[in-house]
Amino acid sequence: MENDLFQRRSKLATAGVAESVEQEQEAKVLVLYSGGTIGMRTNQSGVYEPESNFMIPELKKLPIFHDKSYAEKQLMEEEKDLLVMPLMRSGRRVKYHIKEYNPLLDSSNMTMSDWSKIANDISTYYDEYDGFVVLHGTDTMAYTASALSFMCENLGKPIILTGSQIPIFEVRSDGRDNFLSALVVAGQFCIPEVLVVFGNKVLRGNRTIKNDSGSFDAFISPNIASIAELETDITVDWSLVFRSGTTEKFRIHSEMCTNVGLLRLFPGISVQLVRSFLQPPMQGVVLQSYGAGNAPDNRPEILKVIEGAINLGVIIVNITQCTRGFVDATYATGKALYDKGVIPGGDMTAEAALTKLSYVLSKDDWSIKQKTKMMKRNLRGEVRSIHIEDISLLDFELIDCVAKALSISTKEETLKLRDALYPNLMCAAAKSNDTEALERLRSTGGNLSAGNQDGRTALHVAAREGHLAVVQYLLHHGATIHTKDQHDHTPLNDAIISKDHQIITLLVRTGAHLTMHPIRIAMELCSAAARDEVSTLQAWRAAGADLNVSDYDKRTPLHVAVSTKKLNSVRYLLENGARWDTEDIFENTAEMQAKKTGCEEILKLIEQKSREEKAGTSNS
Ligand code: ASP
Repeated sequence: MENDLFQRRSKLATAGVAESVEQEQEAKVLVLYSGGTIGMRTNQSGVYEPESNFMIPELKKLPIFHDKSYAEKQLMEEEKDLLVMPLMRSGRRVKYHIKEYNPLLDSSNMTMSDWSKIANDISTYYDEYDGFVVLHGTDTMAYTASALSFMCENLGKPIILTGSQIPIFEVRSDGRDNFLSALVVAGQFCIPEVLVVFGNKVLRGNRTIKNDSGSFDAFISPNIASIAELETDITVDWSLVFRSGTTEKFRIHSEMCTNVGLLRLFPGISVQLVRSFLQPPMQGVVLQSYGAGNAPDNRPEILKVIEGAINLGVIIVNITQCTRGFVDATYATGKALYDKGVIPGGDMTAEAALTKLSYVLSKDDWSIKQKTKMMKRNLRGEVRSIHIEDISLLDFELIDCVAKALSISTKEETLKLRDALYPNLMCAAAKSNDTEALERLRSTGGNLSAGNQDGRTALHVAAREGHLAVVQYLLHHGATIHTKDQHDHTPLNDAIISKDHQIITLLVRTGAHLTMHPIRIAMELCSAAARDEVSTLQAWRAAGADLNVSDYDKRTPLHVAVSTKKLNSVRYLLENGARWDTEDIFENTAEMQAKKTGCEEILKLIEQKSREEKAGTSNS
């Protein structure tokens, strides 16, 4: 493995850009730097304060954050503001851009409009990056993570929040590890969730709480296990990963309702306090009750105030003050609340319940009934909807049989066996167009987005085979469209290879987009043009390719089609917006080449296009 890596590295060192584009797997990550201790410095009064324009130049000096020699040799002109991590053991390199906010904030000073700003930035740059990291103060990180999980609808890529307890440039700091881990996870694992990476754990954002103000292990997710552990290996528990199961495109909902609040019960709480808390404009309240959701049932005046507010349209959700556990109606004291219309909030954290309320209440086109229904539903994995813990992975019949045949007995080995078997079985089912088999695998705990040894998922295979029904099934069950196989191919690339327009269109409608380097796209298009494969050009165009992309010599597909005299391709390219007047690095346009090659028909087509354009501009 290390040997392999060494060979790969030395090859790269002597290679030009073309080779590096071919050989390395690359991931691009956008870092939104909002503030927090991670980038703070001690000011003159001896306290930590955010400092602008300080983090990026300092990071560039640290080889583990920025491979200077690679950047100087390999980055294209337009990539010069990127930082580049050294090549990872997995053979992947993460390039990242840091967008620093102004002003940088201590997260205690953040408001809901800061959440919207982050969500808007993610939306603006969504297609350009494989993942997102938000550098954030730890104090309100759990709120921002929870809010973003709701604001980002139909999420297909990882959004990772991280920060630190000690600034990154101090001698002892947890900031370096946290930031590097966040970049690695964002660049390497297509987990379509808002996550918190902190202290070697990857946690679901809307399940986290800040649990310790001094520990490097500051965050916990008390009611579910970590999504991944960052040890010598990074082990993602894919069975825990939440998938939205929709074929709709990613979008954000950035307007949150601010008329929400948290009301924590305490023995002897006065009815006046409860009444004034529930006054308009309050629209939604998270009630933090005792134990399994209990409130005094011997205080009819308080229950009456609560009932009155609910009747006026205030939504009240009941969660527990305990760190772990969930609310249910086991006790009469809890049931009294539900009888009045309070919604049981299950095992949601206060942060998740509050931001979920804020999100649901801001949906102007939903009725109160619908909002109440949505509050009860598991929207982003924030609440336990089925007792996942009750299903033992070891119960799965198939895995059990194979485990027995191989004399496997420990839980760890059985889980490894499951991870090795299921993705391959799913790919096989996808290849043979067998949705029933896929459904059987899914219903026994299979993760439809898991990749096999080559990183290929059932969706890659179905797209390559042109099995539309399987693709539809997979998308409906939340299979991710952004996973790259070991050749950096997403399912969209496979659909292009099979030239299946229905699948291409469906994937694009779901939010799939081309992630390859533009030069690689240009090379594919130029070679299709040289072979006069119009159907290939059509497939690339349907997938969103710009027909005017150019290769290393700035030659476009039209240059190639003209110089190789491929009439059909020339016609198709011209009809679909290809320019005949762009110069390659030898200052040749496609038009000039048509004159040189002396192909009358091609020249006629270009001249006709040029005349039409002139007539169009003089008319307008
Ligand atoms: N007060 C800081 C903040 O939340 C604490 C931290 O970043 O750890 O911004």
